[in-house]
Amino acid sequence: MGECDVVIIGAGMVGATLANALAQRDIRITVIDTGAPPVVDHNQYDLRVSALGRAAECVFRNLGVWSAIRAQRVSPFRKMVVWDAGSSGAITFDAADVGEPQLGHIVENSVVIDALHQKLDNYPNADVLWATEVEKIASRRDAVTVGFKGGECTAALVVGADGAGSWVRKHLRIGARGTDYDQRAIVAQVHTERRHGRTAWQRFLPTGPLAFLPLADGSCSIVWSCDRPLADELMTLTDESFMHRLGESFEFRLGGISAIGERRWFPLARSYVEDYIAARCALIGDAAHTVHPLAGQGANLGVADAAVLAEVVAGAAGKDIGSRSVLRRYDRWRKGENMLMMNAVHGLQRLFQIRVSPIPQLRGLGLSLTDASGPVKRLIVRRAMGLGGDLPDLAKCSIFEVDQ
Ligand SMILES: Cc1cc2nc3c(=O)[nH]c(=O)nc-3n(C[C@H](O)[C@H](O)[C@H](O)COP(=O)(O)OP(=O)(O)OC[C@H]3O[C@@H](n4cnc5c(N)ncnc54)[C@H](O)[C@@H]3O)c2cc1C
Repeated sequence: MGECDVVIIGAGMVGATLANALAQRDIRITVIDTGAPPVVDHNQYDLRVSALGRAAECVFRNLGVWSAIRAQRVSPFRKMVVWDAGSSGAITFDAADVGEPQLGHIVENSVVIDALHQKLDNYPNADVLWATEVEKIASRRDAVTVGFKGGECTAALVVGADGAGSWVRKHLRIGARGTDYDQRAIVAQVHTERRHGRTAWQRFLPTGPLAFLPLADGSCSIVWSCDRPLADELMTLTDESFMHRLGESFEFRLGGISAIGERRWFPLARSYVEDYIAARCALIGDAAHTVHPLAGQGANLGVADAAVLAEVVAGAAGKDIGSRSVLRRYDRWRKGENMLMMNAVHGLQRLFQIRVSPIPQLRGLGLSLTDASGPVKRLIVRRAMGLGGDLPDLAKCSIFEVDQ
């Protein structure tokens, strides 16, 4: 392992998206991950699923991986129903309102990561090192060297795609700010008495939102975000008691919960870095920003980061792709877009927790008014699907789709 153009640290959904986008453009890359290659269990759903919007789908189509993802397991959803436990407010989003066949797809993270790595294996200009710990990053004026156990690689640019606890971010002393929500998200696969109707359901409780995401086999993936003491309590319940509490908290919208698999939880925090770039380095995905999962945006934002960074780097061919002037374009392009979404999500998270009158009543009124207003709803839907703002070419399906 000696030289390449870009070293990507982190081979998750976002790092692997960038790797494909750069490899497709003949850029020489090395990807390093401390973990093992992805495994897809064909008999069991991955507990980590993501609601991916149209823009992320387009990125995967343009990278030639969407058909492999679809061939495994995806669940398109056409509607999203949101309602407030603290008021009579409710809102329904429908793909038909924006002339799209669906609002998005629920996809298992492992399926996406596996498809991306299968594709990456075909590029002679891409190397992936699994189970490899990075030990140092040394930037010089004209190059950066990434040292790991057993070797080193010199490149023009290093990218930190190593998730919320980013080693790269800490190693380069890039400070992160944010809010610990003191909440946890409990995830599980459940079977419900009534059909999910290709609809994503979310009820905002004062303790946090509870979502039922439709899966292809008719079951649902739940994301129950709640304050830590409640989460601790819920995790200790027997399956039977948990299923009852879950059904009750969801107002039995889909009838009773008839079966449940393993439960896992994740800590929830909002975090962001002031600068997405440092000397010969860029941060993407959760390494640069994490958001509350209530709007299903984290992976979507990260995939967009990867698409933009690839476009900026490819557009600088013949120049120094790790130079500050090139990287600043990525920083400016993504920071504003991400902050807009992050602030909206944070605002919603806070707003739905307020129990003091007259906020719940006003919130309910706001939801109902938004529900009745076509243009406002369309704007929200397009943004949530990733179709607002300044899109990179990879996120436009009509540009050069290589995967139908
Ligand atoms: C409960 C829950 C529900 C969610 N639902 C949605 C949703 O519906 N839609 C959506 O868009 N987003 C959702 N998200 C957010 C989404 O899961 C994340 O934003 C996304 O997975 C981030 O991807 P990433 O590749 O940036 O980071 P990660 O997925 O964390 O991947 C990081 C990679 O880096 C590797 N790594 C870590 N440390 C090192 C190191 N030191 N050296 C080398 N490699 C390293 C890891 O092994 C991993 O492969 C949800 C999050 C949660 C918690």
